[in-house]
Amino acid sequence: MPGLTEREVPTGVLYLCATPIGNLEDVSVRLLKTLRHVHLIACEDTRQTAKLLRRYRIRTPMLSYHQHNRRQREGELLETLREGHDVALLSDAGTPGISDPGSDLVRRAVEEGVAVTAIPGPSALVCALAISGMDTSRFTFEGFLPPRAARRRAFLQELRGEVRTMVFYEAPHRVLETLADMEEVLGDRRVTVARELTKRFEEVFRGALSQAREHFSQHPPRGEFTLVLEGSRGEAARVSAEQVRAEVEALLAQGVEKKEALRMKALQYGIPRRDIYRWLARRED
Ligand code: SAM
Repeated sequence: MPGLTEREVPTGVLYLCATPIGNLEDVSVRLLKTLRHVHLIACEDTRQTAKLLRRYRIRTPMLSYHQHNRRQREGELLETLREGHDVALLSDAGTPGISDPGSDLVRRAVEEGVAVTAIPGPSALVCALAISGMDTSRFTFEGFLPPRAARRRAFLQELRGEVRTMVFYEAPHRVLETLADMEEVLGDRRVTVARELTKRFEEVFRGALSQAREHFSQHPPRGEFTLVLEGSRGEAARVSAEQVRAEVEALLAQGVEKKEALRMKALQYGIPRRDIYRWLARRED
């Protein structure tokens, strides 16, 4: 461009575009305008994005950008941006960069002085949190838990003292194991299980972890799941083993079954049932 030094040549803009997490009508006017005007749409799976483009008669060329080719693609996309062309980055669903490819490209674009902006829209985590009925004033996003049981439990152990609401993504075939591990490690606290949000079979289950486990044992998990878990109420730190034991014994004396008494106190104090069991067993020795 005449009269401009190399640094002053404007780059293209990288638009981070959130797309529907199920219902194709969850698009904004600005998203559609952006997808029409950019030079290129970089997306995870071109077949998936093609459905959205077909629906809105958008003919912008697509380029695949996913977990396995992202290193190479990042170079190509940055080159396109440096040449002054605008690029839209999409994932298969929701917001790119959130448990999806995108954050590395954004980091590199920022480092190179390329303008990065967002076309905000759906994200399963925000959607599930907002309808969870839990405290939304403070929360943490934990993404996917480790798939192996031992590492998953170790990960959950680290969250025992977490007082903020926690949001997790989970694959359908691991939902039951995860609910069981959460109950075991974190105690029988409240959870919201959001399934197939915005889709035909949307279901939002709210209750204790033990109830969720029971429900999904009877209705085998299918589709996409986001779990919103209540934070520790901090009572575990304040209550003594002696007090919990006395309270469980009082419940037993009232005729409450041992399993139920343990469940009630675990839920009340956010203490794993097996800890209370151990405290009782120590007394019985
Ligand atoms: N970047 C996406 C976002 O912002 O929502 C998340 C991508 S991550 C690879 C996909 C996970 O998000 C799914 O495995 C599921 O846990 C959650 N998810 C996506 N769509 C969902 C939906 N419609 N209902 C519930 N959870 C969903």
